[in-house]
Amino acid sequence: MTSLPILDEAAALHEARWWERDPDGRVHCYLCPRHCHIGEGQGGFCFIRVNRGGKLYSLGYGAPAALQVDPIEKKPLNHFLPGTRVFSLGTAGCNMGCFFCQNWDISKSHQDQVNARDVPPEAVPELALSHGCDSIAFTYNEPTIWGEYIIDICRAAKSSGLKTVMVSNGYITREAFHDIYDYIDAANIDLKAFTENFYGKITLTHMQPVLDTLLLLKKETPVWFEITNLMIPTLNDDPEETRKLAGWILENLGADVPLHFTAFHPDFKLQNKPPTPPETLHRARSIAIEAGLRYVYEGNIVTDAGSTFCPQCNLRVIRRSWHKVEENLLRDGKCPRCSQSIPGVWEKSEGGQFSERER
Ligand code: SF4
Repeated sequence: MTSLPILDEAAALHEARWWERDPDGRVHCYLCPRHCHIGEGQGGFCFIRVNRGGKLYSLGYGAPAALQVDPIEKKPLNHFLPGTRVFSLGTAGCNMGCFFCQNWDISKSHQDQVNARDVPPEAVPELALSHGCDSIAFTYNEPTIWGEYIIDICRAAKSSGLKTVMVSNGYITREAFHDIYDYIDAANIDLKAFTENFYGKITLTHMQPVLDTLLLLKKETPVWFEITNLMIPTLNDDPEETRKLAGWILENLGADVPLHFTAFHPDFKLQNKPPTPPETLHRARSIAIEAGLRYVYEGNIVTDAGSTFCPQCNLRVIRRSWHKVEENLLRDGKCPRCSQSIPGVWEKSEGGQFSERER
């Protein structure tokens, strides 16, 4: 989408939400659990929230650095409008410091290091519809850090019938959570590991706020959400860790939350680890199914485990090849053989509303 105009920083300044003035003249951003205190002329850890003249501004507002149409399965979401196209956008910056980031070219860039486009919120639904999409995804870098833009895109999309998707690391404060997620229909949350040690050393954050976000999604919203765990050899692929992760999901979120184990490939600061062997994902999937989770997927490899199987009679109800849906046998959200309801959001119904199945 290179025909869209390029934006400079001055034009992109948009006053932020979720901040207060410190007594010493800095500004305190409480959008994410980093709680940056930002001096005049400086930016927060995420680069795109900046203090200019004692006010906090978002440089990401209306200024995406990546725009693309993807299959919804790429997010990954396997129980949300399968086989549809999603208009996807992301900005510069991120609030985590993952050594293995696979979008580091934008997530580790400042605003002036990317080719940000001038795309006001009301233009996004128009672009999505003109590209035949059923939804809009906030993705590629961490969308939380451009929450103001997300809210205004969602407001603009309200009457269009388009659904909205967050692909997030889950690093958001309680104060900002509902402001953003009240506008969201579906989410994929990265649960990057199940040890504080990994979160601290490899992502430069903490695990508990991510678990808190998952609990909020479950207890306080109707958002359809799935979870991704990227498995990195020797860092977070210990079977005992996988057992604990699956057990926590089962106990706190329930058996029907889809869980995606995906393969790492060497990138950014983690070039010294090998790609994840498929056997590691097979083993993790077996552990999670044994623990009691009903929809466990493998991703970033060629696998049968990207398909959806009925947990009652084991019929393959949605057959996928990589990110493509080859066959969908679901009838009104049910297995055609045993009538087991499969939780998810399966189809668009009259008037742009979507039929939903409780989990
Ligand atoms: S959103 Fe950015 S500026 Fe705000 S607390 Fe998080 S990292 Fe810091």
